[in-house]
Amino acid sequence: MLIKTSELKKIFTDVLPRATPLEAKHLNTQISGIEKESITASLDSPLSQGLRKIVNDNKSLFTKEAFSLLEETDIYGVAFGSCNSVARVEKKRKQIIIFEGILNLIKLYTDFIKAADVLKNKRGDKKILVDGVLENERDIFSQAVFIIAMDYIKTGEGFVDIGDILPDKERMESESGVMASKIFLLLHELAHLKLGHNKLGGETYFEFNSQELLIKEELNKLQQRELEADRFAFSSINKDIRDMFLSSIICFLGAFSFTETFFGGNNHTHPLAINRMERIANLISFSNDPELEEAKREIIESEKKRFIGLSDLREKYTEDKIGNFNEVMTVNKAHSIISVILHQNWH
Ligand SMILES: [Zn+2]
Repeated sequence: MLIKTSELKKIFTDVLPRATPLEAKHLNTQISGIEKESITASLDSPLSQGLRKIVNDNKSLFTKEAFSLLEETDIYGVAFGSCNSVARVEKKRKQIIIFEGILNLIKLYTDFIKAADVLKNKRGDKKILVDGVLENERDIFSQAVFIIAMDYIKTGEGFVDIGDILPDKERMESESGVMASKIFLLLHELAHLKLGHNKLGGETYFEFNSQELLIKEELNKLQQRELEADRFAFSSINKDIRDMFLSSIICFLGAFSFTETFFGGNNHTHPLAINRMERIANLISFSNDPELEEAKREIIESEKKRFIGLSDLREKYTEDKIGNFNEVMTVNKAHSIISVILHQNWH
């Protein structure tokens, strides 16, 4: 299935977490409109129950404080394709609302990153290559992921699920990575509640210095709070297993970091994902495993390199942001990559 550029525009405002301010405003209106009108979230829905089960089944992963906070919070999973999650207090009940779109994106992205690793190990070369600044296979696969996401929004036929065709080892790694990302997402929203971010004042969790960011940007109060929430979320995971979570969190934020490469950051609500990624990565140092420490640095560096490498392109298309995406890879090409992935002999 191919998508026309004119259609992409509408789809992108629905699917992308990093819309332009104008698009974000439109998206927010759309979402709050839907909340009021037709989306009725229920704690009994399969999505809500699934998220609660993740919490209950993984009690030992959380600090005591985080677990008891989660117990007194209503967790809603909402069957709507928005790539979003929200924390709020309604009628004195603490609520976390997670939309299906972001859960799907996490799974799709994690599966594809694993697939990229398998293909790379198997071939040891780079047959799937496009010209320009997308240099590594992860980038190419990331782009394919977003094409699939767009197809999903457009046709409503559900995601292509490549989880089942991955070799056992990678499939299991992907499953635990997805689980860890969902836990981090829940804890991030929980942090907004705990730190009083829904109020105008709220606590200051740590002193922030914009000079420390990997890519320089001035952050407003809202954006600083995102960094606070990340840090609180990370410290809500039991100390002895935090290092295991790091690669999943990097992968999760990688999906957003990739879209920002083309569309730029949302300079109103969130810091750049690459900055969030780097801040979290800094909370852990693998001092007794130099290889792991090196791998961590390498991922951050390649994200940074890509972001900087595409800055001219972002400047060029200030209005037609879809142009960024199409300039680097046509929709046709992305589809042919998806078909390579699906027809690969994986075992
Ligand atoms: Zn947040």
